[in-house]
Amino acid sequence: MSDVQNTVNTVLVVGAGTMGNGIAQVCAQAGMTVTLTDVSPAVLERGMQNIGKSLSKLVEKGKLDGAAKDATLGRIAAAGDTSAAAGADLIVEAIPERMELKVALFRELSAKAPAHALLGTNTSSLSVTEIAGAATDPSRVIGLHFFNPVPVMELLEIVRGLTTSEATLDRAQAFATAIGKKAIVVKDFPGFATSRLGVMLGCEAIRMLEQGVASAADIDTAMKLGYRHPMGPLELTDLVGLDVRLAILDHLHREVGEQFRAPALLRQMVRAGYLGRKSGRGFYEYPDTKK
Ligand code: NAD
Repeated sequence: MSDVQNTVNTVLVVGAGTMGNGIAQVCAQAGMTVTLTDVSPAVLERGMQNIGKSLSKLVEKGKLDGAAKDATLGRIAAAGDTSAAAGADLIVEAIPERMELKVALFRELSAKAPAHALLGTNTSSLSVTEIAGAATDPSRVIGLHFFNPVPVMELLEIVRGLTTSEATLDRAQAFATAIGKKAIVVKDFPGFATSRLGVMLGCEAIRMLEQGVASAADIDTAMKLGYRHPMGPLELTDLVGLDVRLAILDHLHREVGEQFRAPALLRQMVRAGYLGRKSGRGFYEYPDTKK
């Protein structure tokens, strides 16, 4: 455990979807000033609403008082562009799991950011070293892999790229402590410690569904009641997003091996727009989700 003090006071979160709004929330709850941005104004608006709802739930549960909720919300600004990069101590990207998008973003934002800024990627599986290669200073790029839902999940998986400096790692660990997360540090290898195991379980559950072994609900019940998993693998795939899981599987299939070949059913469902909770339908239906 490093004794480095947290140096992050101002954060820019890029991408306000499933992960980005949660990341913005936890940073603001820790007293940091946050700007949240997305290329889609609709997602940005929904992201800000989600933060409000999530904080209200904490108030209802007695975990936060109304004044702290208002103060937290007051520390988060929604922005239509990335100009806040110029004043950021930390930039975290939570845009789709596609290397070409992440590379383009890091090329642009590392040039705009101050020389001391940490540059974090929330990638679930891609090479942090390759993303870092696009930045003006690759030594300040690090994987900050959060878990869904971000305000609830305790883990932050810190991924050290080949070019990530010791100072960047120390500062990332201090940031994790400041936002109340337990950090693990892993080597930059496809799928890290978490996604590699997590997607494999989900993948096998989908294959079992394809083979008619059991219904989706029974497969999930098997793991919840038989193995004490808090969620079943198919419910979890719906929560994560079928498109996100497919992107990870395709990447691990290329990089690690045949065992990660995506089930045809998953690819078909993504093609049909059945992306899970966020689209209103995945292995289950979510009638309340606005399309
Ligand atoms: P998402 O599709 O919910 O959100 C991504 C957002 O990024 C979209 O709203 C999109 O409009 C926006 N975007 C795309 N290009 C952009 C750009 N250039 N600038 C600003 N915004 C842009 O995706 P997500 O599930 O939040 O995943 C984001 C990242 O987090 C991915 O790398 C994913 O692998 C990783 N991740 C996801 C989960 C999960 O459970 N969903 C968990 C851990 C990590």
